[in-house]
Amino acid sequence: MTHIIVPIFGESIESIRDDIATAVERGATMIELRLDRMPDIPDEQLLAFAEKPPADVPILLTYRRAAEGGDDTATDESRLERLENLSQMADFFDVEWHTFAQSNRNQTLIDAAIHGSDAISGSCGVEAIERGQRRSLILSKHDMKTRPAGLQGDLLRMADAAAGDVVKLAWRARSVRDNFEAFELLRIAPKPAITICMGEDGLISRVLARKFRAFGTFAALRSGFESAPGQLTILELRDRFRWDTINDRTRVYGLIGDPVKHSLSPDVHNSVFAERNLNAVYVPLHVAAGVESFKAFMVEVLARPWLDFSGFSVTLPHKENAYRFLKERGDRLDALAERCGAVNTISVLPDGTLQGWNTDCEACADVLEASVDSAKALKGSRILILGAGGAARAAVVGLKSRGANPVIANRTSGRAKSLAGEHGCEWMEWTDRIHAAPDMIVNCTPIGMSPDVSESPMPPASILPGTIVFDLVYNPLQTRLLTEAAKGGCRTVDGLSMFIQQAAAQSRIWTGHAPALETVRGVAEKALERRRLSESRSG
Ligand code: NAP
Repeated sequence: MTHIIVPIFGESIESIRDDIATAVERGATMIELRLDRMPDIPDEQLLAFAEKPPADVPILLTYRRAAEGGDDTATDESRLERLENLSQMADFFDVEWHTFAQSNRNQTLIDAAIHGSDAISGSCGVEAIERGQRRSLILSKHDMKTRPAGLQGDLLRMADAAAGDVVKLAWRARSVRDNFEAFELLRIAPKPAITICMGEDGLISRVLARKFRAFGTFAALRSGFESAPGQLTILELRDRFRWDTINDRTRVYGLIGDPVKHSLSPDVHNSVFAERNLNAVYVPLHVAAGVESFKAFMVEVLARPWLDFSGFSVTLPHKENAYRFLKERGDRLDALAERCGAVNTISVLPDGTLQGWNTDCEACADVLEASVDSAKALKGSRILILGAGGAARAAVVGLKSRGANPVIANRTSGRAKSLAGEHGCEWMEWTDRIHAAPDMIVNCTPIGMSPDVSESPMPPASILPGTIVFDLVYNPLQTRLLTEAAKGGCRTVDGLSMFIQQAAAQSRIWTGHAPALETVRGVAEKALERRRLSESRSG
């Protein structure tokens, strides 16, 4: 079993009691009491509280040293003495390897905490609570800044210490690739282990801990109560990432992009997996811009088939990189991906080869076609395409196939020119877009996307009344471009319908089943609303 360990800290014993009860209700299987984050609660209160615990789950006591992410500047000796004082309420202790290895005196204090001490319980005036003969010890090491050298050596050295029962290594991920090392360490660990990559890039080390049989993963009770950077809330872990269904056979899918934090894809695909009862999970994979980062990520994934990656969505700015990567490897590309020169969907085939698809192309043309009075209106329409990246490539191919005349304007004019040349259409300088006077405008740039919501790719005066304006950006749904266009008497189309349609097509590729568009829309709208609420709370 992989524990969901929820760190609890607070200013009063009452709030701690309530939070423990809530955490267990939400699915925590272990509670970590962070003593360094509750300096004002006297030990007597904690011990008295432990006589009537609010829930029957194991308690992990941690008094983290400052150098490893703790809030306290106490000496090793005083921290260990406090752990020993409170030993009666603990099932587990977390002690840093640094502290353990520092001195024999420290090890004696740790040993006393593990075995309990009547003298100390007497000194607190509290009856001893029988919680078993011996508490367990987690030996831990944290690097809050980067990936430290010698992780494997650390793991083996720590596992070698007879006093330790569980080994924990946590470090700040430099990139998503660090997670693979975290899983490798779990695979070779001679003792139960926890390996965590902190920060946004470490998300999958938390979600997939169960797949790789970690001893536990840490999850915050609620947003704002994280004990380390990148920690998910317990509800996110269980509801958004299907924690309870993950096991060692779970297939892994993910969204490759930069940024990926606010994407709706995990919500949509995980809910489709749940509806179909599939043993699969979908995670965001932040891969920094640049073809070399994309390649490095894919090469590392493909070198580790045991990760069980089965498919990827590809988003900004990697769709052309994905096309290039597959093309260079001689992997299969479907006809639309080939025509677009951009891939937004990858399947990992059983023999380890890849197949690339483009589901944006049809989705973009279908959505725009549905928004005009008849299919004929698309035919012959002059459509200004803003951008010349992966999405613009799909839009150009999709719209041309319906008889429209795309005109491409891009910040980097060379890219507009070359895309126009590939597909035999017009292009113009970026600065000239304001004089284009097209029938329709399709924004295929990220301008206006959260957090830069006050930006727009077109000055309002350059959009003539009656123009159909389609913004591929869907976060937020109502972008500045669409708001201004609607005010100016234009028909507007937001990016959600296209997102839904391309996601449903991805799902059909991976699972053989296309979910109902209305179901996907419901999931996406709920996720957008949750995001809006959490952004308005934090901002
Ligand atoms: P991409 O391949 O990175 O291309 C981005 C394009 O936007 C490039 O042409 C780039 O111009 C241009 N651009 C970026 N920042 C700009 C700025 N500040 N000013 C002017 N131009 C700028 O990205 P993509 O995959 O095409 O995605 C583009 C947008 O479409 C993203 O917001 C994405 O989320 C959205 N999208 C939505 C859907 C949907 O289903 N709704 C599907 C696909 C994409 P340069 O060539 O000069 O760099």
